[in-house]
Amino acid sequence: MSKWKIRPINTGYVTTAPRQYIYHHSVLPAIPGIPEGRITMPVFCFLLDNGIQNILVDTGMAWTERADKYHHAGSYQPEGMAICEQLQKIGINPHVIDAVILTHLHWDHVYYLDRFTHATLYVNEKEYRFAMNPIPIYYKSYEHPSLGIESQFRSLSFAFTKDEEELFPGIRILDTPGHSPGHISVEVDTAEGTYICCGDSLFMRKNYDPVYSLGYDVTPPGRYSDIIEAWNSIARQKIRAAGREYLLPTHEPAIEELIKTKPVIG
Ligand SMILES: [Zn+2]
Repeated sequence: MSKWKIRPINTGYVTTAPRQYIYHHSVLPAIPGIPEGRITMPVFCFLLDNGIQNILVDTGMAWTERADKYHHAGSYQPEGMAICEQLQKIGINPHVIDAVILTHLHWDHVYYLDRFTHATLYVNEKEYRFAMNPIPIYYKSYEHPSLGIESQFRSLSFAFTKDEEELFPGIRILDTPGHSPGHISVEVDTAEGTYICCGDSLFMRKNYDPVYSLGYDVTPPGRYSDIIEAWNSIARQKIRAAGREYLLPTHEPAIEELIKTKPVIG
């Protein structure tokens, strides 16, 4: 079995209201201490390497002006944190990336895609079709041309993924829809066990936890395209993961703490 190393790369910070995004309204009375206002959360993507191939799961968010003006106000990308700049710092040119697997096509997961000129870009077909023609409430998420800005993926070609497909030895696709119509997660075998890059199927590991007083076995999110699919996708990953810490959600603050002492997993 091929063993991969996973390097989490934080590409900046988005602001969000936990009571609208991270937690479903039904759990608000049952969980004390959820902040009333907005919080700032990291935006990770993940570099996978097995010594031969380099693969990215997502490419992260935009520069500050774009993120703040068109998306969540107050979001920002500190100097040097764009994906290509960070790859440069560890001696990796975008041209040596073999594949980019996109968990979904929301704006904070797809920036600078055109820089990866030698990479095959993978996405779920349903996600791609919806992203190219979303309903208006998702225009901002997918940077629809009607906003007067250029989206990152509209002119690019993609290969479509299949559920349970072993895309590379030790890297498997899991269909985890619900946050968006064709969201996928990426299961990665490492020397330290199997990790799942969850994208936004779990906003944070908190979505993994049961809410005992309600009889919920997961904490459902507040932002979704389909709450039944979103619930089942979290439940599916709970079954497959060896534990909470094996889940790598894009916006998990604990990963920021982890990489201070352990920049590479596996
Ligand atoms: Zn996101």
